[in-house]
Amino acid sequence: MIDFWQEARLLRPILTHIRRELHQYPELGWREIRATQLIEEQLHRLGAQIVPWGSMTGAVGLLQGARPGRTVALRADIDALPLEEHNVAPYRSQRKGIMHACGHDGHVACALGAAMLLAEHARLWRGTVKLIFQPAEETGGGAELLIGRDVLHNPEVSAIFALHCQPELPTGYIGLREGALMAANDFIDITITGKSGHGALPHRARDPIAASAAILQALANLHFRGIDPLQAAVISFGKINGGTARNIIPNAVEMEGTIRTLEPALRTALLPQVADLIGQVAAAYGTEATASFPRHFPAVINPAGLAGFCRRSLAGTEAKLAASEPVMLTEDFALFQQKIPGVLLWLGVGNREKGLTHPLHSDRFDLDEDALAFGTAALAKLAFDYLDD
Ligand SMILES: [Zn+2]
Ligand SMILES: [Zn+2]
Repeated sequence: MIDFWQEARLLRPILTHIRRELHQYPELGWREIRATQLIEEQLHRLGAQIVPWGSMTGAVGLLQGARPGRTVALRADIDALPLEEHNVAPYRSQRKGIMHACGHDGHVACALGAAMLLAEHARLWRGTVKLIFQPAEETGGGAELLIGRDVLHNPEVSAIFALHCQPELPTGYIGLREGALMAANDFIDITITGKSGHGALPHRARDPIAASAAILQALANLHFRGIDPLQAAVISFGKINGGTARNIIPNAVEMEGTIRTLEPALRTALLPQVADLIGQVAAAYGTEATASFPRHFPAVINPAGLAGFCRRSLAGTEAKLAASEPVMLTEDFALFQQKIPGVLLWLGVGNREKGLTHPLHSDRFDLDEDALAFGTAALAKLAFDYLDD
């Protein structure tokens, strides 16, 4: 029996080195050139076969066990965020306005660490481990492109696992949930068309700014219109554009927002209701509004069977298992789950004593590097046990 936790602790210097390399030189989605080089060097060093996948960034590697068997995939996303880091650590971002604030630097370190442990013990397992280093998670499109280029075939992948850093969970914990863990995300775009006029003569115009305010209010109260208040749905707008001067009622207002739902059935019911309500409220103000939903990311839903396997595999190890509640964040790992069974787990990276409590996407986010060994061991154990199962 391999003690993955014991062995992962010995990798601590290299895991920290990899994580800090990425952290200091973060790269936005589709531009992860340096990260790709680092990953390919490490894969090469382990004797992994590097699969050409036809894009500048991201990498896919294959590790072979001693005998033929199934294929399991470990996925890490590699991109950073357009955010100025406000930490003072010596390894803080050296690139202005770009930061690993979602912990993807840690995801890469853990997946490479797991690859090191699995390569070390290749004689003891059968089958294939596919290491998927995905570009462009934050911008969207990375998982889509990989899937479109057959990353789940040749050889056929039967299951996929990934970790995501979670600063609200202390180091040493792995958060697991059966069912919906993260929300579906639908982009919503609204165009409200009115009739321009003088601000002093609103009765001669049709005011799309007034209509936009009413639409926001109406959407906030959507549960009065047949949405079960116990079912989670969030509608937020991050952008409203309209107008040129304080005394001109403009012709049009544009709004851009996000709709988050956990249950696919709720989403199906909700979108037409939202579109309908927007049209009705706009009409009440003498304006016209059209709503469109240009992009959809499905919810992260961990299937019960494979989540149960994770529970059994990690039980009795050094990782403390925590039951996780769903959150309204999104992750394009969901796209892999739509093709094959897959589980996304939280990796606890919070540490109060070290002051590491800032949330994901905060300019003060930092992860507890002690968690890297936990993530490494957990991924290695999951892959090893799955191939053994
Ligand atoms: Zn993120
Ligand atoms: Zn993320």
